[in-house]
Amino acid sequence: MAETLPRTIQRLIKVLSKLPGVGNRTAMRYALHLVRAGGETLLEVASAVTDVAQSVRLCDRCFALTENPGACDICADPRRADGRICIVEGFGDVIALESAGLFNGRYFVLHKLLSPLKGIGPEELHIDRLMARVKAEQIVEVVLATPSTTDGETTATYLSRILAKAGARVTRLASGVPVGGSIEYLDHMTLTRAFQDRKDF
Ligand SMILES: [Zn+2]
Repeated sequence: MAETLPRTIQRLIKVLSKLPGVGNRTAMRYALHLVRAGGETLLEVASAVTDVAQSVRLCDRCFALTENPGACDICADPRRADGRICIVEGFGDVIALESAGLFNGRYFVLHKLLSPLKGIGPEELHIDRLMARVKAEQIVEVVLATPSTTDGETTATYLSRILAKAGARVTRLASGVPVGGSIEYLDHMTLTRAFQDRKDF
């Protein structure tokens, strides 16, 4: 059905359909909406996307998203508690924990989880950078907040082993995170309980 559309709109549909939860039909609806909205809206979307592509990078220390040249706002904030690192899968998890106000330390964003099935090994997770921080920042606690999926548990087990060797206390979010659940989508109460009841791992 999309073949009758101009080629440029077909391309837009293809790009939009890569977004999570957006299939071909929804992508077409969005694309046609944008086209109907007209030139100014289209250019505004384009310029917002270009701005992000040009300005957003990963923090040198925690790999969170930032527009700063070196460390992100959280890493650079002297009011954050030294000595505590919370390891999360993605930036959405940082946002969830920050908006719940549960953690005053700093983060480490993996962006990927260990997965023998997908062929993702430790070398893809910047583990060397994490271990350098554990040594340099006199870490008293590392909170493992990876999701309770198979890959999330594999990653937590692997990290706990090497962190324990480095002498760091390792804790894991309490049960309450539903099996298969990512912390990004937990409701406030469940996340608070899981975080506050974290246990040595
Ligand atoms: Zn940072």
